[in-house]
Amino acid sequence: MFERVLIANRGEIALRVIRACRELNIKPVCVFSEADRGAHYLSLADQSFCIGPAAASDSYLQIKNIISAAEIGKAEAVHPGYGFLSENSHFAEVCRDCNIKFIGPTPEAMQKLGDKVSAKEVAHKAKVPLVPGSDGLLTEEAVAVRVAKKIGYPVLIKATAGGGGKGMRVAKDEAELKAGLKQAAQEAEKAFKNGGVYLEKYIDRPRHIEVQVIGDTHGNVYHLWERDCSLQRRHQKLVEEAPGPTLPPDVRKKICESAVRLVKEAGYSNAGTVEFLVDRDNNFYFIEVNARIQVEHPVTEMITGLDLVKSQIRVAAGEVLGFEQDQIPCRGSAIEVRINAEDPANNFRPSPGKITKLRLPGGPGVRFDSHVHEGYTISPNYDSMIGKLIVYRATREEAFATMRRALDEFVLEGIKTTIPLLKAIFRDEAFAKGEVDTTYIERELLPKWTPTA
Ligand code: ADP
Repeated sequence: MFERVLIANRGEIALRVIRACRELNIKPVCVFSEADRGAHYLSLADQSFCIGPAAASDSYLQIKNIISAAEIGKAEAVHPGYGFLSENSHFAEVCRDCNIKFIGPTPEAMQKLGDKVSAKEVAHKAKVPLVPGSDGLLTEEAVAVRVAKKIGYPVLIKATAGGGGKGMRVAKDEAELKAGLKQAAQEAEKAFKNGGVYLEKYIDRPRHIEVQVIGDTHGNVYHLWERDCSLQRRHQKLVEEAPGPTLPPDVRKKICESAVRLVKEAGYSNAGTVEFLVDRDNNFYFIEVNARIQVEHPVTEMITGLDLVKSQIRVAAGEVLGFEQDQIPCRGSAIEVRINAEDPANNFRPSPGKITKLRLPGGPGVRFDSHVHEGYTISPNYDSMIGKLIVYRATREEAFATMRRALDEFVLEGIKTTIPLLKAIFRDEAFAKGEVDTTYIERELLPKWTPTA
């Protein structure tokens, strides 16, 4: 096992990895930007190094600074967390060249799956169903028009390098398609330095179902069941649960097996997520792979009893996953909500600033993963997540009751948060019945929501 692991991240996920390291008797080494200097979670690391100014492009994305920190801190491995460099195959390659283990898949597997268009080719080879769309990238407008006619409007223009719900555009007809193609390519070039775009059929009111997988470096790959992340706003997840409440058992089996087939085809190891859309007839379609740990991994940890971050470190160190597929349990019901520093009553305007009062919920079935504390200041430089509230109960109904009372116990003052909206979500009848899709929040819930209620 490693003696020291460098954590190339910040905030909630940095703390999550510190905790996993401590339990494995590993010394965690942290990096921080000037904006994060003095953050409490850093004091839980053995050492921490400043890697640059607040802007992520000058610090958390600076490969050479991070590698220097790993070398000075004598770390044998790097955990990238999520976001930042976590899906950057070049970073994984640099780590390998410097003889530092990257806690994630190989750069080759990342390359195959990181780009959405090439991931679709892998899926096709693995006989996993795809959303009907263009074969590869689109470079000519005339081809795009032909493809759209064939699959039928509305279509979705997507960026091959897209992420975080960015770089997507719906086109209802040919005129919108023509205008959208140019804009989407320009936006993608600006945001991801890759202007490649492709077309997909726009699936009407789908559910978002994703399958957690984990593989070791000895060829064993297993799925850890699915998560339903259908409650989103602007393609960004707000609530995630495991298991999915609506999948018929045969569909569930097929979707989980498809995920394993797909990542095996890419020679994948470590933790990853295969994302699908499921239509109203329970047909499922692959959309993308996230080749890293995800924000919503705790719900899978709760239902399987497996610590995913510790498993990531173990398999990176060369350990064999010591179980078989049929030994992985799926027990109870776990739900996570993202508490963000945003004002849901004001178009989700970011609300950075100081947390002047914080009283956390607790008691049976409650887990809160976060680096914040009373007096902590949410920086405007990074994403707005304050923390993740996770509940785990024997049944979904009980999990809802626990979530409702945990949200009611939650006191956070000084900044605006998504808590008032989350409270409304857990009083919503359609959601309780599982009758939601990826457009439900924006289509049904937000228009009838009164912030003061
Ligand atoms: P990102 O990498 O930006 O998160 P994804 O491809 O994972 O993009 O898609 C994010 C979300 O966008 C999905 O969960 C879904 O809500 C929506 N979406 C993506 N593709 C389609 C599609 N073909 N039809 C309808 N909605 C889609």
